Amino acid sequence: MIKSFFLLLLSSTFIHAELRVVTDFEGGNAEVVVLDQAAGRLRIMPALRGGRGWPCWWFLRLDGTSAGQKINLEVQAQTKPYRPETVLAAAWCQPDQAVLSHDGKTWKQTAKAERSADKVAVYQVQAEGPSLWLAWGPPFVPSTAETVLAEVKEKLGDEAERFELAKTRDGRPVNGIRIGKADAPRQVWVNARQHAWEAGGAWVGRGFVEWIASAEAQDFRKRCCVHFIPIMDVDNVTLGAGGKESLPQDHNRDWSEAPYHPEVAAAQKRIAQIQAAHGLDVFMDLHNPSAGDRAPFFFGPFGFERMTGLQRENYQRWMDLAAAHISGPLKVEPKYRYATYVKTEEERARMSSGWARAHGGEGTISITLETAWNTPHSTAENYMVVGAQLARALDAYLKEARH
Ligand SMILES: [Zn+2]
Repeated sequence: MIKSFFLLLLSSTFIHAELRVVTDFEGGNAEVVVLDQAAGRLRIMPALRGGRGWPCWWFLRLDGTSAGQKINLEVQAQTKPYRPETVLAAAWCQPDQAVLSHDGKTWKQTAKAERSADKVAVYQVQAEGPSLWLAWGPPFVPSTAETVLAEVKEKLGDEAERFELAKTRDGRPVNGIRIGKADAPRQVWVNARQHAWEAGGAWVGRGFVEWIASAEAQDFRKRCCVHFIPIMDVDNVTLGAGGKESLPQDHNRDWSEAPYHPEVAAAQKRIAQIQAAHGLDVFMDLHNPSAGDRAPFFFGPFGFERMTGLQRENYQRWMDLAAAHISGPLKVEPKYRYATYVKTEEERARMSSGWARAHGGEGTISITLETAWNTPHSTAENYMVVGAQLARALDAYLKEARH
């Protein structure tokens, strides 16, 4: 009798293991609003990381689930301001489809969220075992970047050189890799993740650098040198903070004469050296846009319509090649957009793209790729396809001699 009582207790404990939200890992972020054990209902909002920008990214592990258990994940906007008197709109933390994983490694999109009148997105998900990972989008953290850089170096040997760009203000390494000969006639700089929440941009970067390291790019590597930084804002990515509009300085407004972030200062120094020694052909910055942008697009140079000669020719040729190559499933818009929401010349000059334009040569092009994250195609795999297509466009662009 007593024995069967304990067995009963044991089995009911097994069935009703306590659900627990865990976020103490790289990129983890969630503030629990409600956790209803009986109903399997979890309400979260992205946790505020004081001064570290937009509370939009979230990434958690739910422990204590059982195979087949249904969970209602509700996501609402953070209620506290991230800047004085500024609360972030809910749309930034509520993709139509979030992502889930049963092993913390492979991610797939959830079903489309249902949205309530009070601006809560509800994702219905199902566990397959004792843990369920849930995130805003496929996570890409410093350990992911480390794996990519190590694999590329391993594959290319002497054709590649890893480097530490800088240590962040919190002392974390910002790593990069140079592929091709340092004194190659054509030079390219690509960085991702100036905004920590924009994980999709880092996946595009991965697809890009893996194509550059592939057998298909053997000829490219003889002619061109690529300098690649997979994650610029390592601190905020590690902490699961949004980074955008962080205080005192957003990374992509920090490209001044006296940058606050050591990694921005170090990037400026290296780019200036490349320009002085060989001439910089292409500067590219990888981002993700807003929830309503359903296709990737490039931000081009302000005043493009008034440009003439070589500059205009190069920017137009880039756009044509990019549109031909980035052809789907995430198909790029065939015309530049302009970041006109940045109002002053002074602020525009402090964006990486503006800085690179000002410090490059007449033939340099400096562009920003914004890859759409709020579509059914916005998966890690498809982001990497965009990256490979971007690299093929670059290959085609650099096949023509520099004017
Ligand atoms: Zn951005």
